[in-house]
Amino acid sequence: MNTQPSTRMDVVVVGAALAGARAAAALRDEGHEGSITLVGAERHLPYERPPLSKGYLLGKDPLEQAFVHPEEWYAEHDVQLRLGTRATALDRGAGRVVLDGGEELPYDRLLLATGAVPRPLAVPGAAELQPRYLRTIEDSQALREAFVPGARVVVVGGGWIGLEAAAAARAAGSEVVVLEYAELPLLRVLGPELAQVFADLHREQGVDLRCGVRIASARAGDRPAAGTLVLEDGTEVAGDVVLAGVGVAPADELARAAGLTVDDGVLVDSSLRTDDPAVFAAGDVANSFYDRYNRHVRVEHWANALNQPQIAARSMLGKPARYDRLPYFFSDQYDLGMEYTGFAPPGGYERVVVRGDLAAREFIAFWLSGDHVVAGMNVNVWDVTAPIGDLIRGATPVDVGRLADPDVPLDQLAAGPAGG
Ligand SMILES: Cc1cc2nc3c(=O)[nH]c(=O)nc-3n(C[C@H](O)[C@H](O)[C@H](O)COP(=O)(O)OP(=O)(O)OC[C@H]3O[C@@H](n4cnc5c(N)ncnc54)[C@H](O)[C@@H]3O)c2cc1C
Repeated sequence: MNTQPSTRMDVVVVGAALAGARAAAALRDEGHEGSITLVGAERHLPYERPPLSKGYLLGKDPLEQAFVHPEEWYAEHDVQLRLGTRATALDRGAGRVVLDGGEELPYDRLLLATGAVPRPLAVPGAAELQPRYLRTIEDSQALREAFVPGARVVVVGGGWIGLEAAAAARAAGSEVVVLEYAELPLLRVLGPELAQVFADLHREQGVDLRCGVRIASARAGDRPAAGTLVLEDGTEVAGDVVLAGVGVAPADELARAAGLTVDDGVLVDSSLRTDDPAVFAAGDVANSFYDRYNRHVRVEHWANALNQPQIAARSMLGKPARYDRLPYFFSDQYDLGMEYTGFAPPGGYERVVVRGDLAAREFIAFWLSGDHVVAGMNVNVWDVTAPIGDLIRGATPVDVGRLADPDVPLDQLAAGPAGG
């Protein structure tokens, strides 16, 4: 194993989805001339997941649109694709990745891009009911088949995946019940005011959204994924298909077994290095240090898997690089499209200011810590992520009084004489 970076090193990437495929491209863009092997447990070409709960699930977009690169790209860039192959162990001492067939791949640099997996629905009887999850192409295909007019769809979890799936099921003419543990869907991410917008949206679209609900047990139906959920108050909710969208867990078991530091994902610094100088991590599996927040944050969103690989590639090649992009994600549900920029965990902000029309679902919401914007969400308002990002990054406090006024341009909100 080379300890000194060179353009001729052998690089192995475990995980062949968005982060893995983007890393292969970034390595070539950065001048890497050595081998690149992309090991992926799934049989598909590396693909992006957002269409699985949107255009593809709705039957509007072809699968090919989700592929990160066309098939010929890999040969053209001399990238070895090992699909349908799982890495089962890392031998860090020898610099080898062990594959499920027993083969061992040597590496000088290793990138872990193993992503995340759905958390299982943890109630008695769930294993027998076999609820659907939504992570892979096969999951999305199964739901497409199940979302038919009149089908009874029960969604457990009012997070992004659950709500997008609910919207797709309604569009297909299914009857939808969403069971959410918290008092509102998306409560932890958005706080009560903004979470209410999504609750109202889904109820207006005919979703039977039930919040503050505890599921006591599950009873299997006559075929997989069909069955009944029994709530703690004794209510029974039956579905032709039950979908569990109760969050994901980082796929960090390889790293853990190999003795790397793991804490809600693979712990990496802002250059995406683990505590082993030959091993890096990016995408959903990486819990990376943000200088801006002075803490590790694991971001489970598309933009992170899109952009972190470039930093990982540079770091693997011994070039200076730090990941300091603001977290960003987007969602589409019915006719609502939104983008969220920044980071406002519970306790990380004191108030939310809205500019625009909350009831018409056309607005920008700002999360504020003191006089500083820490996050912003634009709903059915477009081309504003750059100025929202500038506000978040800006060291100067904002003029909170004018934040809510749509007539004041976003780039003129700095407090004090300069900002007006
Ligand atoms: C249905 C859906 C909709 C989404 N919509 C949005 C959205 O609208 N906006 C947004 O910002 N984000 C969205 N996301 C999140 C986004 O898709 C993820 O952040 C992104 O997929 C992360 O990419 P990744 O490459 O890090 O990991 P993943 O996409 O999880 O890919 C990891 C890959 O590694 C493979 N793997 C794992 N372990 C091994 C192993 N040991 N050996 C070999 N291969 C292995 C897995 O099989 C998988 O193919 C959505 C996610 C889902 C599931």
